[in-house]
Formats: sequence, structure tokens, C-alpha cells
Amino acid sequence: MQDCDYQNTRLTHLGRDTSMSAGFVNVPVCRGSTILADNLEQWAQRKEPDNPYASYGRFTNPTLQTLTQAVAELEGGFQASLFPSGLAACTHALLGMLEVGDHLLIPDSVYGPVRAFAQQVLASRMGIQVQLYEPSLAEGIASLIRPNTKVVYVESPGSATFEIQDIPAIARCAHAVGAYVLLDNTWATPLFFTPFEHGVDVSIQAATKYLTGHSDALLGVATANERAWPLLRRAAHDFGQTAGPDDAFLALRGMRTLGVRLRQHQASALQIARFLENHPKVQQVLHPALESHRGHAIWKRDFTGSTGLFGIVLEPLSEAQLSRFFKTLRLFGIGLSWGGFESLALPMDMPKRNGRTLFGEGQLLRLHVGLEEPQHLQQDLAQALDAAYALNTSRNTSGLRLVAQQA
Ligand SMILES: *Cc1c(COP(=O)(O)O)cnc(C)c1O
Repeated sequence: MQDCDYQNTRLTHLGRDTSMSAGFVNVPVCRGSTILADNLEQWAQRKEPDNPYASYGRFTNPTLQTLTQAVAELEGGFQASLFPSGLAACTHALLGMLEVGDHLLIPDSVYGPVRAFAQQVLASRMGIQVQLYEPSLAEGIASLIRPNTKVVYVESPGSATFEIQDIPAIARCAHAVGAYVLLDNTWATPLFFTPFEHGVDVSIQAATKYLTGHSDALLGVATANERAWPLLRRAAHDFGQTAGPDDAFLALRGMRTLGVRLRQHQASALQIARFLENHPKVQQVLHPALESHRGHAIWKRDFTGSTGLFGIVLEPLSEAQLSRFFKTLRLFGIGLSWGGFESLALPMDMPKRNGRTLFGEGQLLRLHVGLEEPQHLQQDLAQALDAAYALNTSRNTSGLRLVAQQA
């Protein structure tokens, strides 16, 4: 088992090859398309598929190669491919594994745009049988698996709902029919969940979030084990997927401090989650590291830490009160994405399952706890909650609600 301390130390050294950086600590940003060969013999050698100094800039270059190697090592996988966004990594990993007539299982708590892609593209236009499953299913998923099940997709905790999945149990059932297990590991990062030790075949990071960590780049990376790698690589090449070297450089730079950043995100988020759990206007806190969380036991068994993103359910409040809450916040910004140094808050649609709301009738919010002093963040939330509920309006639950799409 790779422990977190070991991973933290490795972060400093991963992927560093001073022969690629002329002795500098960091590999430079290599911008380029054409790579010149000295002669035809060298040209022939460059076209070998596993040569990292490949024949063309779209396949890799020293900056991209350093990043894919570092991420693959950190995840504990075989090799990794880069994509221009986290969503592109998710969709192309799926496209790489699936063919017409295959069956795909995706959890009901999956990241919204992946669900939309599965339904609107894979099911409607490509003849793939897409089935949503209840994310709390463990061995029970066996009853949904068919002989043509090719991919079981997992995301733990799930987007918006923060439900934890029993990935080892799901992987055992998937592998019984030779299906691939694809994981969106963006929330935990490989520091807090080691995918390949838990039966995953492809682990995907929206590197936009914690790996880059500064809200200044969009990037995706998918890491495969040896079995899944030929399919993942094929998909990336066939669809012309690559990433810009400036973004790859920013991800590498961000990754060097991932350990210390996550330690702070974890501690601050937990402090604030516990504060909110005891707040009279907060009905529920959706944070897997809290003992009250439904998935806490599995989280404790499989994860080595928690990060800065979690949900809360507020007592029902009017549109005007919700607006007052967001106007009064000083440190939490309103915006999509997360994983940067800054704190964010967003109102979310209350998820429904089988026609019923998952967490009652309150207002769901998603919080990302950044690197500000946690006591300041706590004060900010406290004063905004006070201001919101002090506003005297008649409750209006049928009115227009501020709802954001997920990212
Ligand atoms: C943000 C996010 C993505 C997509 O990443 P982008 O870089 O924004 O495309 C995928 N999965 C999860 C869980 C995310 O939160």
C-alpha cells in the first residue's frame, strides 16, 4: 500500500529527468509540432509507437512526457494520456473502450456532463446500451452486469451527492465478465485514493482541479493499467487528442505542491464541515469524512484523506434569502470548477432519484474550501447565514431558483 507520506515525498521527484531540461530543476515549456530527424534511420526509429520522443508534437514532447509519466507513477498505473479538459479525458476514455452494442453502467451520481455525453452521444447516436445504476450498489451490481457489459464507470464521491462507492466490490463483479472499470478520481486525487490497488483499470483526473490547483488551466489526464492502455492510447491518437505545453507545465508546477495544498484543504474543509454540522440552519452536511455520512465506513476503509469539496443542505429559504446569503459572502466566490486556492460556493439543484429528492426539501449548496485561514472562512459563512435568515420574507419555494450547472 502506498501511503500518503511516501506519495508526498515522491511528488518532489516524479518525472524529473534533467537530461530533458538541460540541468534545470523543471522541464521547460516545449512548444512545437515538427520534430526534425537527422537521417532516415533515425526517422524510422522515431516512428516506433512506444518511443517517447515520437515523430510529431501531437503524440508527445518533453513537457507532456514529463507530466504523463509523473501522473502515471503517482496513480500507480502503467501509462497516461493527456486531454485538453477533464471532460475530454472522461469522454475519450469511454470512447476508447466501447463499441456499438456494448453495455455501459454509469452511477446516478456521475458528473453531469459525463451523464449527458453517455445519454446524448453514446446511447442516442452510437448504439451503446447506457444504464444508470444506484451508486450505493456494491456486490449487488452483479445483477445488472450483462455478458456485453464492457465498462462500469465509477466516481467516488459522486458529483453533487457526495455518495461513496464500494469500488473494490464493483470491480470484482465487472472483471468477472472482462469489463473495464473507469474511475473519475478528481476529488480524491491519487494522494488520497490509489485506484489501481482497488481494481480500477483507467483512472481519470480533471487536472484542471487539484493537480494544477490554481484555476489557471484546463487539462485532463487518464491513466491506464497495462490491459486498458492500448485502447486508451488508440482513442487519444484516433481522435487527435493532446494538450498544450503551457497547460502541462502549469500542471507539473502545481503538482509539486499538491501534498501541502491538500493537507490544508483537508484540515480546513473538515473544520468548516464540523462547524456547519452544528449550525441550526444547516440540515445536513455531505462530507464523507464525517461520521454522520452514509458512506463513511467505506471512505475510511479505502481512502487516505479527504479534500476541500463538499455539500450542505440549508433549511428551506426564499429566493431573496438565498440571494442575500451570496451577496453577504466576502471570501467565497460564486463560480464553476474547484480545486484552486480560492474558496467557492454554488447553489445546486436538489438531486432526485426514483422521483424523490435525495436530501429532503432544503437548499443544496456546494462549497469548495480554499487556502484562506479556516477561521476567516467560518466567520464568513456564519455572517452570511445570519444575514440570509434575518431577512424577513415569506417563503417562496415555487419561485425561480438560482441553479448552476455542475463543473
Ligand atoms: C470538473 C470535473 C470534470 C471536468 O473537468 P474540466 O476540466 O472542467 O472539463 C470531470 N469530473 C469531475 C468530477 C469534475 O469535477
